[in-house]
Amino acid sequence: MAKIGINIATGSLQQSEMIVGIDLGTTNSLVAIIHPESRQPVALQEHNSSSLVPSVVHFGEDGSVVVGEEAKKFLVLAPQSTIFSAKRLMGKSYNDIRTNASFFTYRIIDDNTESLVKVQVGSKFYSPVELSSLILKDLKQRAEHILKTPVTKAVITVPAYFNDAQRQATRDAGKLAGLDVLRILNEPTAASLAYGLGLNKEEEKTIAVYDLGGGTFDISILKITQGIFEVLSTNGDTYLGGDDFDQMIVKHWMEQLGISEASLIEDKTLAQELRLRAEAAKKWLSNNESFSDAVNGHQLRITRSQFEQAVQGLIRKTIDSCSQALRDAKLEKDAIDVVVMVGGSTRVPAVKQAVSSFFGKPVNDSVNPDEVVALGAAVQADILAGNNKEFLLLDITPLSLGIETMGGLMDVLISRNSKIPTKAARQYTTQKDGQSGMRISVYQGERDLVKDNRKLAEFNLEGIPGMPAGLPKVEVSFLINADGILVVRARELRSGVEQSIEVTPQYGLTDQQVENMLLDSLTHAQEDIKTRALVEARTEAGQLIETTERFVEKNGSYLTADEIEATRQAIATLQSVIASGNKDLISEKTEALNSVSRPYAERLMDEAVSKAISGKTLSDPI
Ligand code: ADP
Ligand code: MG
Repeated sequence: MAKIGINIATGSLQQSEMIVGIDLGTTNSLVAIIHPESRQPVALQEHNSSSLVPSVVHFGEDGSVVVGEEAKKFLVLAPQSTIFSAKRLMGKSYNDIRTNASFFTYRIIDDNTESLVKVQVGSKFYSPVELSSLILKDLKQRAEHILKTPVTKAVITVPAYFNDAQRQATRDAGKLAGLDVLRILNEPTAASLAYGLGLNKEEEKTIAVYDLGGGTFDISILKITQGIFEVLSTNGDTYLGGDDFDQMIVKHWMEQLGISEASLIEDKTLAQELRLRAEAAKKWLSNNESFSDAVNGHQLRITRSQFEQAVQGLIRKTIDSCSQALRDAKLEKDAIDVVVMVGGSTRVPAVKQAVSSFFGKPVNDSVNPDEVVALGAAVQADILAGNNKEFLLLDITPLSLGIETMGGLMDVLISRNSKIPTKAARQYTTQKDGQSGMRISVYQGERDLVKDNRKLAEFNLEGIPGMPAGLPKVEVSFLINADGILVVRARELRSGVEQSIEVTPQYGLTDQQVENMLLDSLTHAQEDIKTRALVEARTEAGQLIETTERFVEKNGSYLTADEIEATRQAIATLQSVIASGNKDLISEKTEALNSVSRPYAERLMDEAVSKAISGKTLSDPI
């Protein structure tokens, strides 16, 4: 019999365990659920406090860990042991963040620039996954405290441009926090769901999701068809957000009061005080015309129009990104049916106006922009819980996935824009006799040569039993699960030897890089086709030389001296043109070698067959 529980917080019956939706933000994080009675998404909050938990972790000298509003205080007092913006480090190497290193006030380890970054606090090292897991653990505890029930299952959101590494890192952080992460969901998809978009299967809509948070700006163009969300394009700036608005206000006051840059570096407390007042002023000006306050005898004033003047350039930048996103999606402005506003900074009236006038239509801002992503994650969680059976949300892979084959060619197993979950498999074989291992290198991208794509992972299938080249059957299968995480498996079918990995790539990709990869594939299409043909011709030539040499070595005694000499010459000629880069010449000389060896190969085959029939055996000619 199924267990039925009563939730003493809500007083309602609870048939199954609650699945929560989590927005793990760069600046703020929060948890939402579908209320069991009202069936509406609600953000969880303790009495008299905000639903938002600042994504800040402070490590005390006594070994304590504090998360959220409490930890935020230490940003000034103990910057070296107070970690903010850990999300920016997810799945990144030091090289990826090198140009923005000065942004972080804590110590990021830079000795191994190729591998994933770590943060040093005192004598301890933390990975971004561990840091995020501390935030998630805190959110989980808060939720349990509010709901008075264990919380172990969650849907967690990530930016649409997050790659496999960053998604996997987020999933790992969840696991480490004791959460079973049922789905990694794109933030713009979540925001759309919170507005009920995509919940009607008949509906076809193109949506622009404009997300301006504390430190980041994202614009995503989505298309929904039959409940499937497809990301058409993404753009943005990972170092532009509400914090920059605050900075502009601080600047305004510094000019007004004649405070120099140097005096602020000297007086850290004043600097922090100004920053805090600036954020308060900004928020105040979202609903009022002017702000005034005093700090250390300084009179601080700013009007809404002065503020708008100061941030005009920043807003302009976000609008330029919107244009670029439309261009990338190959859409005109009027193709956008709905514009959804996300992120605390979209409360600024000038931001709303700019976005609305750019797209030429009113924006959707009725759902709280701080909470909208978490609320949508809760909608998704509810669907997964089976409470909303009609819907199965699908996503789409942004880039093709494949493996490296002979000559460094990209062999695509799952092509870009495939609906996920999805799987694909293909068979490969060995190139050398007795080859016992096979290297499987997994790549992502649209170019024909793997060197132009992005390597995700690599592993060796070992222990293939000794067999002649070409005999082993190695099946490589790709499975992308519903979270967009790739599992690669290689299996030698004759022996059953098997090896698999979940892709844990070394590097992060920025949204800009994903775009560039797509663009590159278009601009290099012609060139790629030529290169592929050349590589294939070279590979074929190399293989023919090898098999011919092997054949002559084994069966030399059955060949005439003329045949051996002609073969030697044809091989030498072919070898001399392989490096030429002239595909037609290579093909011509390959054919020439073939026409020398074909007659005697056939003759020997016939002899082998007739001898076999007459009961004698001859070594296998090939
Ligand atoms: P993130 O998604 O990056 O975690 P949020 O969506 O929570 O961030 O946005 C945080 C930002 O929103 C902060 O810069 C904050 O100052 C700003 N913000 C919050 N409320 C308002 C408001 N009323 N007016 C203007 N900005 C606001
Ligand atoms: Mg956000």
